[in-house]
Formats: sequence, C-alpha cells, structure tokens
Amino acid sequence: MLKTSNLSKIYDGKVAHKALENIDLAIEEGEFVGIMGPSGSGKSTLLNMVATIDQPTSGSILVNNKNPLEMKHDELAKFRRRELGFVFQDFNLLPTLTVEENIVLPLTLEGTRVKEMEKRVAAVAEKLGISAILNNRIYEISGGQAQRAAIARAIIHRPHMVLADEPTGNLDSKASRTVMEMLEKINKEDRTTMMMVTHDPIAASYTERVVFIKDGKLFNEIHRGDNRQAFFQKVIDVLSLLGGDASDLSSIRV
Ligand code: ADP
Ligand code: MG
Repeated sequence: MLKTSNLSKIYDGKVAHKALENIDLAIEEGEFVGIMGPSGSGKSTLLNMVATIDQPTSGSILVNNKNPLEMKHDELAKFRRRELGFVFQDFNLLPTLTVEENIVLPLTLEGTRVKEMEKRVAAVAEKLGISAILNNRIYEISGGQAQRAAIARAIIHRPHMVLADEPTGNLDSKASRTVMEMLEKINKEDRTTMMMVTHDPIAASYTERVVFIKDGKLFNEIHRGDNRQAFFQKVIDVLSLLGGDASDLSSIRV
C-alpha cells in the first residue's frame, strides 16, 4: 500500500538540517501503523512526504503502486483528493459551516450527486456516532465531536489511506479513547490503511504496529498482537529507551 525507499529530507537554511535520513517504510494494505519519536525527530516530515504535502530531497514513495512524485500538479491534486484522507490535531474544520457541510466537502469537490452524498453522510455519521449533531455548526460542538466529524470527512470519499497527525493532541483522555476506538473500527471494518503520528502511548496502543524514529532515522518497531494493555507497556518501554522528551511520560493519562 505504501512503500518509501531511501527517503531523505534536508531542510535548507543557514545550517542545512537533515530531518529524515534513508527511511525505508512499508505499510501493508489494511494495516494501522503508528509513528512515534521525540519531538523534532521527523514524524510530521515523514507524514507530510507521504501526504504529498511536501517533497523529499531524495528517495522514492509509492502509494497504492502510484508515484506521486512523478505526477503533474492537477493529477497530484486529484490523487490526494481521491486516494488519501487527512486528520489533523486541530481538526481543520470550517467553523461557520455545519458538521454535515464539512463532512461532504470532499464529495462536493468531486461533483457527487446530492442523493449519493446524503446516503454517504448518513452512513459515516452513524459509524462515528454524530448523527444527532449533523446540523450543528462547528463552534457549537465539543473537541471530541469535532474530531469525529473530521474523521467522517476524511473517510467519506473512501480513500485508500488515512493519514493522521496527532489526532488526539487536543483532546482529553475520554475523547481520545473514543476517537481511537473509531479509527480502530474504521480500520477493521473498512480495511482502510492508516498511518498515525502520535506522542500519546495510549493512542498508539490502538494501532497494530508502532514504528519509532529518532533523529530522522528508523529506530525500532513493535507489533501489537492481541493484548492492547501489554502493547501499551511495550510502547512505554521503547519510549524510555528512546530518551529525549519521548520518555517524559509525566503527562500520561491512563
Ligand atoms: P516531529 O513531527 O517529529 O516533531 P518534524 O518532522 O516536525 O518533527 O521536524 C523534524 C525536524 O525538521 C525538526 O528539527 C524541525 O525543526 C525541522 N523542520 C521541520 N519543518 C521544517 C521546515 N519547514 N523548515 C526547516 N526545518 C524544518
Ligand atoms: Mg510533528
């Protein structure tokens, strides 16, 4: 589903900064992968390369056997819109629109028929438990509801892969768990491939595999198996090995 080879990113500046170095990462179709590492280790840079928001300095990326780096501007925009779904820490919803209006945006851009839109909205809203607030405006709902609306928007066009950067970063622990349960459910039921950057070990424990990066390089990876609690503990152990602010677990809300 996703394959990066030798992916590197150097940010030019007074001092050139190597944000990513030779990353080889493969994500299988239907897999749910977490990306963790200290702040500044290159997590968002990696996600943004895969999201085609930013371009690598060298190396290659294949998403669903397609190479976004070879696409022309319009083709790339279409690719991003059809094949990918995005979830951000700050929800990125349009505050004066209703929940429903926000959710259908990707379909509006595709010119989907109204009947089909209504059917799809009803289905994703049901899946995410937000049917009752479809007519509310974004400024009227809670953070947890907003993130569920953002997830609905990210999946309504049935993308191949959902990319999430700190989706629980602005949520309290209860809302975080609900959001993670939803992402887990979508991954299981729809087999949507997911890649999620997080510094929250609880959020990470809902994924199937966590890949750790340090100083722009792959450090380690661990697999969940069938016990989420044990996986959570393994995540904590690797974070303390990693050091830096990744091992500052004082903010953990268990
Ligand atoms: P993380 O998401 O793991 O906290 P980032 O991927 O945001 O880390 O950043 C990795 C490194 O690249 C950091 O040292 C950061 O300062 C640097 N960096 C990120 N974006 C830019 C940019 N646009 N220009 C210059 N340096 C950047
Ligand atoms: Mg980041």
